[in-house]
Amino acid sequence: MPSLQSVRGTQDLLPAQMRRHRAVTETARRVAERYGFEEMATPIFEFTEVFERPIGETTDIVSKEMYSFTDRGGETVTLRPENTAGVVRAVLSNGLTQSTPLKFFYSGPMFRYERPQKGRFRQFHQIGVELIGVAQPQADIEVIAAGARILDELGILARTELELNTLGDTASRQAYRAALIAYYGDHLAGLSEDSRRRLERNPLRILDSKDGGDIRVNAGAPPYSDYLNETSRDFFAAVRRGLDAIGIAYRINARLVRGLDYYCHTAFEFVTSDLGAQGTVMGGGRYDGLVGVMGGPETPGVGWAAGIERLAMLIAEPRGATRPVAVVPVGEAAELPALRLAETLRRAGFAIDEAYSGNVGRRLKRANKIAARAAILLGEDELARDAATVRDLDSGEQITVPLASLADHLARFR
Ligand code: ATP
Ligand code: MG
Repeated sequence: MPSLQSVRGTQDLLPAQMRRHRAVTETARRVAERYGFEEMATPIFEFTEVFERPIGETTDIVSKEMYSFTDRGGETVTLRPENTAGVVRAVLSNGLTQSTPLKFFYSGPMFRYERPQKGRFRQFHQIGVELIGVAQPQADIEVIAAGARILDELGILARTELELNTLGDTASRQAYRAALIAYYGDHLAGLSEDSRRRLERNPLRILDSKDGGDIRVNAGAPPYSDYLNETSRDFFAAVRRGLDAIGIAYRINARLVRGLDYYCHTAFEFVTSDLGAQGTVMGGGRYDGLVGVMGGPETPGVGWAAGIERLAMLIAEPRGATRPVAVVPVGEAAELPALRLAETLRRAGFAIDEAYSGNVGRRLKRANKIAARAAILLGEDELARDAATVRDLDSGEQITVPLASLADHLARFR
């Protein structure tokens, strides 16, 4: 019955899994705020153009991975494959380019038509930050530091490694592009078909190809460092100095590239060897050309995005939900008073479970099953005395407490 299955590459987040996702998102949001990133959200779908223009029609994302469709009104829209383009679109739509620096945090679902495997889904979730309007390397340092701090507070920084590279400024990149096109042009036979296709439009991308033939050709490719001008070298040195100063360790990876034209200077990834092939948990960099490409005034930017599913797999089991207190009426006459008591206690902030039916034994069984911390037994005796019997379900101890002081008494179980 295929119609009762979830769509390939999507998954249900049942409570145990959702707790992990929430732990990731809530930690990230809290830490991001400490760095001044305020949460915002953009729509889950945008006009296709929003992604096509900046991401570029020759990239894998646009040519193969986008969920695009024509809606009933004839508009061509796309489920967002990533959120940076949406954030920049929002900055432009809301006329915020004069209010920089802008610092945003976001979280939410993204959609890519990829081959599903461990850590790779068609609907997945990302957290991310964008810092728009600051051209100085301080922004890159702060963005990376916020990412590292989030990983640390999730308890997984030590399981990741920060890989760092520079893509230089436009002039350096043009010089390097030309050098690469010339080099690859002499080694066409050794390149994969994908790479031959990328050669004119996106030669930098060939550098991080996983194809065996490409890797052999890449071994002899000229290094970017030969083509970086002074501005680019200075910028990279400043980023490294800043990271050193705040004790963030990194490894230079000259093969780390983001192929799109609007990326420049800093590129980085936090990677782990604990997730198999899908080892990148967080990726980001500087995108000074993006706002311009999308039709706005030239505005620098830097940011990162991280996959919540991958982070959720790495973190320790989060603390479970608050253990509730079960209200158990004893006898028919106690049903309504129990209902009223449950409601009063919920208003006072307690997590209360009401076992819906059955005798006392059955209701207490349910209380145990849901790991209730205590049970409040309400029977004729208690009602006559305006009291309730509170049973500590861990120790088995029970005492009778006047209703007036019940909330104070329960506070110990929170
Ligand atoms: P990858 O190399 O794994 O395909 P990417 O370069 O496409 O990653 P980005 O577009 O930079 O990834 O997205 C940032 C992060 O989002 C990734 O590092 C990863 O943690 C997560 N991510 C990307 N695609 C998926 C996916 N299909 N399923 C789950 N997580 C994903
Ligand atoms: Mg990808």
